[in-house]
Amino acid sequence: MNTLRSIKQLRDAGLIPAAQTALEQVAARYAVAITPAMAELIDRDDPNDPIARQFVPDQAELAPQPHERADPIGDDAFSPVEGIVHRYADRVLLKLVHTCPVYCRFCFRREMVGPGGRQGLTREKREAAFRYIRQHPEIWEVILTGGDPLVLPASRLRATVRTLAAIDHVKIIRVHTRMPTVAPERITAELVAALRAQGKTTYVALHANHPRELSPAARAACARIVDAGIPMLSQTVLLRGVNDNVETLSALMRAFVECRIKPYYLHHADLAPGTSHLRTSIETGRELMRQMRGRISGLCQPAYMLDVPDGAGKVPIGPSYISASAGGTEQGYEVQTIDGGVRAYPPRE
Ligand code: SF4
Repeated sequence: MNTLRSIKQLRDAGLIPAAQTALEQVAARYAVAITPAMAELIDRDDPNDPIARQFVPDQAELAPQPHERADPIGDDAFSPVEGIVHRYADRVLLKLVHTCPVYCRFCFRREMVGPGGRQGLTREKREAAFRYIRQHPEIWEVILTGGDPLVLPASRLRATVRTLAAIDHVKIIRVHTRMPTVAPERITAELVAALRAQGKTTYVALHANHPRELSPAARAACARIVDAGIPMLSQTVLLRGVNDNVETLSALMRAFVECRIKPYYLHHADLAPGTSHLRTSIETGRELMRQMRGRISGLCQPAYMLDVPDGAGKVPIGPSYISASAGGTEQGYEVQTIDGGVRAYPPRE
């Protein structure tokens, strides 16, 4: 089986009913791709399958909401040269490609990725991006993102990592990807070796949203990365109808930890156009975080993050368990316990 890229292919694979003609319009507007590994995970008998919900187009995507915007996290406002986003002083995003093995229906860069999106960097533009990183000694970390950088051949990845590693002030190279789960066969020994460079540290941040994505093949792909000495982190988007219940979210976080992946961020879904049917409220997210605290190990706890629209950066959005007592902090604090109780904590003597 190949990656499914058209409505006809999705229909032939039994992933959408014949009657849904509006989906052609959705596919014309936003890229479609479902890898064999993800197509196999979808239960055709479940109209609410959480894997299908992430990748199969929905006509609700044609109904953008007033607060939604094409560049929800404001990448463009912080792009000094093409391919670089320099929002925080000590790190940059380096977007080499705008293609992905799958196209997620909630993607925050959905206006930029895919065959109809932005082009990958040409050799000259890549050189300009590397030059920018060289000229900015405050850049400690380079985050390869896009698109999914692991669509690149191992030789291109190796050359990129070597070029970055040769810059003295760059100490950390972080790769953001869905590849280990959506196309685990792509995580070859050659590709893993390409991500490492002598004297520098590489991290791989895996984006996965449902525990079923961590199939045996995906777990083996992650093991190849971690066994090579590359620590892994997780990123999850909180999605309505996919993972917005405590059982699913807890199982996902545990699966990450079992794979030696430290749960890092649970993202509140961004205000990307035509994605409101997949967003939860912030209160739902905070309540899920409350329910996970105490129920599953501290190792399994991610931070719940909001990307403040238009480039204002990421902030953790709680929940918080401590507040000043009624008389102010001189009088101490009120602490919420994990079972919902409230205790006093004294001020500093
Ligand atoms: S893999 Fe990432 S960049 Fe690509 S469509 Fe999904 S969320 Fe967007």
